[in-house]
Amino acid sequence: MSQSLLQVKGVTRIFESAKQAPVQALTPIHLNVEKNDFVTILGPSGCGKSTLLRIVAGLDTPSSGQLYLNQAPITGPSADRGMVFQSYTLFPWLTVAENIRYGLTEKGMNAKQQQEICQYYLNQVGLKDFADHYPRQLSGGMQQRTAIARALANSPKMLLMDEPFGALDNQTRVMMQELLLNIWEKEKTTVMFVTHDIDEAIFMANRVVIFSARPGRIKTELASPFEHPRHYTLKTTPEFMALKSQITEEIRQEMLDAFSA
Ligand code: ADP
Ligand code: MG
Repeated sequence: MSQSLLQVKGVTRIFESAKQAPVQALTPIHLNVEKNDFVTILGPSGCGKSTLLRIVAGLDTPSSGQLYLNQAPITGPSADRGMVFQSYTLFPWLTVAENIRYGLTEKGMNAKQQQEICQYYLNQVGLKDFADHYPRQLSGGMQQRTAIARALANSPKMLLMDEPFGALDNQTRVMMQELLLNIWEKEKTTVMFVTHDIDEAIFMANRVVIFSARPGRIKTELASPFEHPRHYTLKTTPEFMALKSQITEEIRQEMLDAFSA
């Protein structure tokens, strides 16, 4: 039997503090992610999405439960999981190309190979004319494209994205969704993508995992069955809108329950 690339088994997270009552951010989460899948984690703000992603990244540890990547326990951060966060995390003192090559330099890869990989991803994200620019000279969308290129250049087993387009204006966001899907259609990098945006969750995913309000647990999971390549006009088709209204209802009910609890 083939095993999933990522296995999350009964993971919980309770934040303890001396002054306040403990916060249970995640109740037991069971989740498998298969190789080449694109999974979105959708849920209202504060439901534990970032907490789960940080635990998968190895930046935080669960209060109980286990996680395995390729059957090996996750014990900390590693280059096999590339992260892209909402806020810009590029090194401001490095150029776009140097940012993209950063992990490869760290690994001691030879300069020619680094150059090839960097060039390839600069092209993929449409930044070949900006290789020598510094992050401060770029728009928000361009900075996020650089962050995506930097993560992909390391050939991670998984790409972990936490509301990566959350700080962008709507037009740029839509463009970035298409750009990332376009890359995924070619490379089939396994992606776990956190968002609170229902359109985005359906448009990007093969599977939408819906979280309940805090304490976070997986409420339900739905397939996003639309063919690739996807074009932004998909969002206005009746099939897309039907799935969107189904998910909107699920989340609304969830929030009403949370308010009245
Ligand atoms: P989301 O990403 O879905 O908005 P988070 O995972 O950031 O939610 O947070 C889930 C819950 O855990 C929230 O109630 C938040 O206040 C709490 N939380 C997150 N990180 C910490 C922390 N470091 N210390 C205490 N509480 C935290
Ligand atoms: Mg979050």
